[in-house]
Amino acid sequence: MLGLMQQWPLLCHKIIDHAAAQHSRREIVSRSIEGPIVRTTYEQVRERSLRVAARLAAEGFERGDRIATLAWNGARHIEAWYGIMGMGGVYHTLNPRLFPDQIAWIMNHAEDKALFVDLTFLPIVAKIAPLVKSLKKIVVLTDAAHMPAGAPAGAVPYEEWLAEAATGFEWLAMDENEACGMCYTSGTTGDPKGVVYSHRSNVLHAMMAALPDAMGVSSRDVILPVVPMFHANAWGLAQSAPMVGAKLVMPGGKMDGASIYELLDTEKVTFTAAVPTVWLMLLQYLEETGKKLPYLKKVVIGGSACPRAMTKKFQENYDVEVIHAWGMTEMSPLGSLGTQKPETMHLTGEAKLDMQEKQGFAPFGVEMKVTDDDNRELPHDGKTFGRLKVRGPAVAASYYGGAGQEQFDAEGWFDTGDVAHIDENGNMQITDRAKDVIKSGGEWISTITLENLAVGHPDIAEAAAIGIRHPKWDERPLIVAVAKPGKSPTRESLIAFMDGKIAKWWMPDDVVFVSEIPHTATGKIQKTTLREQFKDYRLPTE
Ligand code: AMP
Repeated sequence: MLGLMQQWPLLCHKIIDHAAAQHSRREIVSRSIEGPIVRTTYEQVRERSLRVAARLAAEGFERGDRIATLAWNGARHIEAWYGIMGMGGVYHTLNPRLFPDQIAWIMNHAEDKALFVDLTFLPIVAKIAPLVKSLKKIVVLTDAAHMPAGAPAGAVPYEEWLAEAATGFEWLAMDENEACGMCYTSGTTGDPKGVVYSHRSNVLHAMMAALPDAMGVSSRDVILPVVPMFHANAWGLAQSAPMVGAKLVMPGGKMDGASIYELLDTEKVTFTAAVPTVWLMLLQYLEETGKKLPYLKKVVIGGSACPRAMTKKFQENYDVEVIHAWGMTEMSPLGSLGTQKPETMHLTGEAKLDMQEKQGFAPFGVEMKVTDDDNRELPHDGKTFGRLKVRGPAVAASYYGGAGQEQFDAEGWFDTGDVAHIDENGNMQITDRAKDVIKSGGEWISTITLENLAVGHPDIAEAAAIGIRHPKWDERPLIVAVAKPGKSPTRESLIAFMDGKIAKWWMPDDVVFVSEIPHTATGKIQKTTLREQFKDYRLPTE
């Protein structure tokens, strides 16, 4: 017997329709690439998205066509997204921090037919446009007055292009399982792999992200997604915010402490999200200026492990609650969030910080388990770690073009490549990437634990732990650290600081100080480069 309820396919443009119907005048505030702060509303964004769709359709772009975006977080980028999705296209976010050759490789792989690009990235486009055979159209997200003389041949300014669009376009009726978006994973090894989101997966993800124990956002929130739309869908916020009718504040290309602080303060932001590197810059700015965060209530920190010292500072010095989150491009991206269940609500001080070092529990829509190498499920005891596997309606079922099949099993589980344990309350803690974990005497040492501990040292800004070949133990830990400006911590002081806080055999065999640690395009420590750099390093314990 089938249910007798209406068929109402879960389509992304219904999110912007809802925002315009219920929260029409709620603002979207953007720091524009041209400079000034620009204000629009959900009603206007919907209207302009319809124009984007009309224009694309009129120029012959079709259902299923991949349309790339190379842009910062701003209202025009959101209009482009909804317009592309609403005419049946597939938005494809490109990460401008990749090398031009990599971007061109990704665009050719996805066969992108058009590109929406911010002014900032025109120099990149000049390099990649001749390499991408499928590319037929470039729209620059600006107006004619700001089009630079050296813009690529045939590129048109967005505002004038939009003004010529026919009105009265209607969103395409589609199956909810059709593709609507695409994003390539950073690919620290091998070629980048394409993740293809569907309308259904994006709508379900936006709902699950908004839940009270996940991001917990509402129409009363003012949301600043510092995490870029090109990094795993801005963690779903470009969809969750209009879904709940929250005011959106978009930072454009400026992510330094002073610029982010200005938006937090003038727009009275209540909720924000980004990777730890961004928060390091903001906290430093706050410390230097003595400024406070009177409006901000919650900050979501993820993308890489949130250092304990960072959580402590936000909560104790600025009264801002930290939600540690974990996810992946392949998961749309949310996988778990560190909000507190009744079982852990009572924790305060150091005990609460211990709990917040974990990446939290899975919201509805994510199933999670840890297994050993033979796929045997491991106990939820908060210490036995193994391969973290997930499945759910917003988790990839395969990569575009069939790459990486070995990560998906017959029962629908996706092997995340992360190593983790899960406790009796379901709280998961990432201990490593499977390929980064240090194997010492047949046992595993968590590099994330070592790094978190090292950055707790008052004079250390950033630290990375890597395994160095050792004749007896196979591998032993080396800490590569960056000192805070004006400080000169020593190897001995760091070793003394770490001593007693972890098992003796987890203690680093050596510490080296460098001026900079290499990062990937998504802000993670580039372990492959570091390992290469230190491949001939000889430990004093050899
Ligand atoms: P990406 O798809 O670029 O977002 O990268 C996903 C990977 O980032 C995950 O598989 C983890 O290795 C890492 N990651 C994300 N969030 C966290 C976190 N909170 N703690 C530790 N690692 C994280």
